[in-house]
Formats: sequence, structure tokens, C-alpha cells
Amino acid sequence: MGDLERMDGGPRSVIVVGAGIVGLSTAWFLQERGVQVTVVDREGIAAGSSWGNAGWLSPGLAIPLNEPAVLRYGLRTLLDRRAPLHVPASPDPRLWSFLARFAANCTTRSWTAAVRANLPLNEECLEAFDVLTANGVDAPTVDAPITALFETAGQAETLVAELDRLGDAGQRVSWTRLGGAELHERFPQVTSRIGAGVLLDGQRYADPGRFTESLARAVLARGGSIRHRFDVTAVRRHQHAYTVRSASGRTASANAVVLATGAWLGGLARKWGVRVPVRAGRGYSFTVPTDQPVPGPLYLPGIRVACTPYQGSLRVAGTMEFRKPGDPPHQARVDAIIASARPLLTGVDWKRRTDTWVGSRPVSADGRPVIGETGAPGLYVAGGHGMWGLTHGAITGRLLAEQITTGKQPEALRPFDPLR
Ligand SMILES: Cc1cc2nc3c(=O)[nH]c(=O)nc-3n(C[C@H](O)[C@H](O)[C@H](O)COP(=O)(O)OP(=O)(O)OC[C@H]3O[C@@H](n4cnc5c(N)ncnc54)[C@H](O)[C@@H]3O)c2cc1C
Repeated sequence: MGDLERMDGGPRSVIVVGAGIVGLSTAWFLQERGVQVTVVDREGIAAGSSWGNAGWLSPGLAIPLNEPAVLRYGLRTLLDRRAPLHVPASPDPRLWSFLARFAANCTTRSWTAAVRANLPLNEECLEAFDVLTANGVDAPTVDAPITALFETAGQAETLVAELDRLGDAGQRVSWTRLGGAELHERFPQVTSRIGAGVLLDGQRYADPGRFTESLARAVLARGGSIRHRFDVTAVRRHQHAYTVRSASGRTASANAVVLATGAWLGGLARKWGVRVPVRAGRGYSFTVPTDQPVPGPLYLPGIRVACTPYQGSLRVAGTMEFRKPGDPPHQARVDAIIASARPLLTGVDWKRRTDTWVGSRPVSADGRPVIGETGAPGLYVAGGHGMWGLTHGAITGRLLAEQITTGKQPEALRPFDPLR
């Protein structure tokens, strides 16, 4: 079978479907282990949520989405078009079945299990980025604390309590309370409405589009190939090999396949025994100029908005709406972000907004990503990281490449088994 012969104990060649941060990281770490990779994407590099996200590499805030408080909040604001969390009134039975399953997982027990599962990922995620940038990925990751802003000290205690719960579950986070005066001194953009803050040390941020594109260039430079406009509609299994077929009849074959298709993971993976549903939790972002440079990422938990220094301006990201990934963007969601952030930030030119973007977070029903082998030997999935796919993207790729080439599931991936 030529190229499709397996190496001793592992595949010689792998097709990665999806050129987002997760797929490309997997490809890069597979190359590190001597595997020939072909990445295919229905559009191109960073065509999904890996482009316009807030760019935080934030192990300290990588809090699973299935918090009991999220459920309470969701039920209160259900169907409110301006609320940061929005579920459209839709007859889609699959969506409602997903939401019912998600709601059933919004328990302290399930959330704590997800926090514990994330611990090894959080521990190693920044180091995995360092491996990439030290070996040819030409995009910086910037060390900077993330500062959460609140109107009152009482509101800040909600985050402090959440960080304490994370601490109880084993997640080390170093944080400091900041008073209003200190905040205004550090951040000229903060209005007098903000009276308290919590500063989280040990976090980073990146330009996610630039990072993902640099990662793709590194995969190419190391001998991989990337095929654009390759919309995989079928995966066929042969002995020691797979063929993926695109909508237009193009094909590619290799010993193994990784489906890293983000919010689209459900469709292809379901056929191979993956029962954990993944849906699109869509978010929006845009870029605005500021009078003065913003020194680091700002988090506005009350309105669930994340702001990040971006190419000399500020990227503002937020909202979560459960619509199909391909649905048209809703201007009302962007307007809602601006209306909620305007009273809290000053020196921001909201009218000169550029790069307005909608992207689909791949949200799983139990707050945990799905990473590992499916019911078919040699067919893997990697996705469902929800709010934290950039933070956990590189380490996911590293761990999955280890599993694919050694045939052994790393301990850290056990809680993310796709067949759970
Ligand atoms: C507003 C917003 C802000 C965010 N902020 C952060 C943050 O600050 N930090 C953080 O860690 N995370 C953040 N996230 C989450 C993060 O963006 C995602 O979790 C992450 O990008 C997921 O990466 P992925 O590679 O799994 O998926 P994607 O980047 O979506 O990549 C999937 C790729 O698969 C391709 N594809 C899909 N189906 C097929 C098919 N059938 N055939 C071929 N190709 C296919 C798509 O074209 C796409 O390119 C944010 C998300 C949003 C929306």
C-alpha cells in the first residue's frame, strides 16, 4: 500500500480534517513524531472560531461552561435577544435535546468533574505553546495578567468565590483584589462606574488568527500539506487506511484520520460512535481604536465581555447564542455588546468598528471536550473545547499525537474519551 503502510506501532500518515487551532496543533505534534500529515478544510486556515476569538491563553480562567450558575442565568434570560446568553425560539428538536442534556450537566458534581479533568490541560497548556513558538511558529504569546472589572466590591466577590471553588477542585490560580483608584490608574479606559477588580496572574494572550496562520505555515514548512475548499462529507474505512471524500468528489487517503471540525464535529463523528453532542455556541467580536493603549486583557463578567489588545487597537468579544454555525450574523448581538460595554469603558471609538466577526464555539453537552479514538480504530476526534479551545488547543494536539503514535491513551485524556 506504499504510503499507507503503517510504521511499527503507529500510523505513517494521518489526515486531519479542520485547519483550526486544534487540528493544526495535532498535525504539528504528529509531525514531531515523524508522521506525514495532510490537513483538509472546507474553507481554509482559521476559517472557524480560531480566527476572531478573544485570544486569551488563560488556564486560570478556563472554567467549564456547565456551571450551575450558567443554567440559572440561562433560564432567567432565555429568549432575550439582548442577553449575553441567547437561545433563539427555534423548532430544532436536536438543539432542545442538546440543551436538555447540557442543563442536566449543570450540576456541581458534573462541573467539578470537568474542572478536575481540565487540571492537566491547564498545567501544561502554556508550555505546549512555548514548544510551538520555540520551533518555528512565528507568532508571539504575550504574558499579561487578566483583569476582571466590576461595578462594586460585592460583585467582585462572585468571581472570588468561583476562583475559590476552582481552588477547592485543585486549580491553582494566583489573584489579587484591586480597588477602584488602582484600576483607574492602571487602565485609562475604565469609567467611574467600575469600582473593583480582580487581577489574575500567570495568563497570556495572542493574536489567534495570526497564531493559527503561523502554525499552518510551520506545518507546511515541515513537509505537511494543507488542502483548502475540501469539505469532507464521508469517511471510509479500509484495512489500515481511511479515505475521506469531499462534497465535490475529491479524495485523500491515510492510515488514520483526526476529525477536528470544531462546532461541526457532531455530524461526522456521530457515525463512529461518538455520542457526546457538540453544538455551536456562537460569539461575536470586533475591533475598535482606543485613545490610549490598553495594557492587557480586560474581562467584564457582569456583561460577559472579553477585551484584548489587538494590533494596536482593542478586540471586544462576547455573547453566546445557540444558532447553527452557518446562520447569518445578527447585528443586534453586536449592538448589545456595545450598549452593555459603553458605560464601563471610555476612550473607545465604538463608531470606528472594524473586523466584525461571528464564530462558533464548539460546546459539548457535559462541559468537557472530546479527544481520542472513536469506535473505529485509527479514527480520532478532537474538539468540543467550548470557551477555551485556543487555551487548550496546543496541548490537545500534543496529547492526541502521543495517543495516535503510541496507541496508548494518555492519562490526561481519559476524562475526554469520545466514547464516554
Ligand atoms: C467570541 C469568541 C471568543 C473566544 N475567546 C476565546 C479565548 O479568549 N480563549 C480561548 O481559549 N478560546 C476562546 N474561544 C473559543 C475558541 O475560539 C474555540 O474553542 C477554538 O477556536 C476551537 O478550535 P477548533 O480548532 O476546535 O475549531 P475551529 O477553529 O472552528 O476549526 C474547525 C475547522 O473545521 C473546518 N471544518 C468543519 N467541518 C468541516 C468538514 N466537514 N470538512 C472540512 N473542514 C471542516 C472549519 O472550516 C474550521 O476551519 C472564543 C470563541 C468565540 C466565538
